[in-house]
Amino acid sequence: MQNLLDEAIRYALPYVLEGKPASYIPELGKVDPKQLGVAIVSMEGNHWGSGACNSNFTMQSISKVAALMLAVMDRGEQYVFSKVGMEPTGDPFNSIIKLETMKTAKPLNPMINAGAIAVDSLILGEHVEEKLNRLIGFVRRLCHNEKIWFNQEVYQSENATGYRNRALANFMKDAAIIEGEVEAVLELYFKQCSIELNAMDIAMMGAVLAGDGTSPITGEVIIPKSIARLVKTFMVTCGMYDASGEFAVRVGLPAKSGVGGGILATVPGKMGIGVFGPALDSKGNSAGGIKVLEYISRKLDLSIF
Ligand code: GLN
Repeated sequence: MQNLLDEAIRYALPYVLEGKPASYIPELGKVDPKQLGVAIVSMEGNHWGSGACNSNFTMQSISKVAALMLAVMDRGEQYVFSKVGMEPTGDPFNSIIKLETMKTAKPLNPMINAGAIAVDSLILGEHVEEKLNRLIGFVRRLCHNEKIWFNQEVYQSENATGYRNRALANFMKDAAIIEGEVEAVLELYFKQCSIELNAMDIAMMGAVLAGDGTSPITGEVIIPKSIARLVKTFMVTCGMYDASGEFAVRVGLPAKSGVGGGILATVPGKMGIGVFGPALDSKGNSAGGIKVLEYISRKLDLSIF
């Protein structure tokens, strides 16, 4: 396995030159774009890593997977999906167009920004701090890492420049999709996107999903099986945004990307995979990261299809 990961990094490294780090969140533009790392955690709890597998990055949209699971545990599937849909969009992750052209302003799915902001408004807690602490506590259990916290600089950078996310949230507030104060929901969303971890943490989260919600380390049931299945399905249909179809053909695994350069992938019944490469392609997915996953999936014949 170690050799395979080293080979995957060697194979994929040239592709990082085809991408660029996200710069619409200014703080994200400061990273070294040539980094590339991968980690795997097996169902037995064994782990391997190669390249920049211990470098920290922010979860960004990968956090939407955790927020959705928590919201469904808090409020039930039926209520959550009265506020957000289940269909892929074919539009970029931060698109606003469908909110106005669809019959209701209900965002199409929980993996795009509009859907994730709507989901965040459903997480239980008296105030933002309590909601965030609950969410970070949940991410810590999923990643088996009690040290996880959010990156203040990235949060401030996104908060200062998040005009489009503010537009999405205000539109949904007007349409009665969002519960509570717009600014409070955005604070939770921006802080959750700024949760900082590494590829090994992400691989652990993928291993929990691979085991239908059970920790490969402690045997604890962290998420009910039905919710693990629900989010894995969204990861297949919407996890890589408007590149989800091509990713399903080439890699064939439930996965979720973030503009921090991370990709969470899960191989049901087998392993979790975490990838980090901050140079992004035009759709906002890690350019090198996708190639790492293509290589590993092909060599180990991991496609679920
Ligand atoms: N925080 C980012 C945003 O809202 C998350 C987007 C992403 O990772 N695709 O724009």
